[in-house]
Amino acid sequence: MDLSGKVAIVTGSARGIGRAIALKLAEAGADIVVNDIAAASDSLESVANEIRALNRQALAVTADVSSKDDVNRMVDAAANTFGHIDIMVNNAGVTRDQLIMRMTDEEWDTVLNIDLKSAFLCTRAVLRHMLRQRSGRIVSIASIVGITGNAGQANYAAAKAGIIAFTRSLAKEAGSRGITANAVAPGFIETKMTEKLGDKQRQTFLERVPLGVSGTPRDVAEAVAFLASEEAKYITGQVLCVDGGLALG
Ligand code: NAP
Repeated sequence: MDLSGKVAIVTGSARGIGRAIALKLAEAGADIVVNDIAAASDSLESVANEIRALNRQALAVTADVSSKDDVNRMVDAAANTFGHIDIMVNNAGVTRDQLIMRMTDEEWDTVLNIDLKSAFLCTRAVLRHMLRQRSGRIVSIASIVGITGNAGQANYAAAKAGIIAFTRSLAKEAGSRGITANAVAPGFIETKMTEKLGDKQRQTFLERVPLGVSGTPRDVAEAVAFLASEEAKYITGQVLCVDGGLALG
């Protein structure tokens, strides 16, 4: 897999799956725009330095991906620095778990804005550049709960199901211009997001994984790098589950 000469933006890449994706794409030869919301900006600069240590260029942009102005500023900075944008990875996401009966408007809106609206804002902003280039790769991080649903995660599952439908629509709209759109749906991956689960919840999850173990951020990054590569040029509108078989039910 060779991404030399390509420029990728990876949202929410100060840690976890986003960090692993940024490093994997850099290892494959791409220059990377790393992004995170303000609170994580220290670790963002350290990811940028890890990329530079791989002899790739890195630009760190602090931006809230649910804000149109922030997203446009980030994409303008990427285009001004590198002159082109080839790969957009919509990764940033949060959870605010709650049963529907008790879920607040804020819990619903926060998750829909950061996990779904962000993908629309980032995609709209980079499409301008990709349409002109007549090429591009857009990979969005969904979740298997966007396929299966999950009690206590109606907001998150709805956002992730939205990512899948958005991806399929985008694939139809942009395909004639050489732009592919795919989603990666992780299952149970060890990150800060899943750290908050108790031992019992973790055990219950793992019992349902046919491969019997949790996944790593690197497992997700490998799938993203493939979908971003030349080798995946005839794949669009797909959802690739990286879940050890969990979504099989
Ligand atoms: P994580 O460790 O919590 O990392 C998410 C990153 O996104 C954090 O650095 C976070 O910054 C950043 N972020 C949050 N809100 C943002 C915003 N408004 N603008 C820019 N950046 C923002 O989560 P993860 O497990 O790596 O998850 C990455 C993606 O994979 C998410 O879309 C998630 O839904 C998806 N996913 C994860 C799993 C799993 O098992 N871990 C499973 C399925 C899908 P802060 O630290 O400042 O909040």
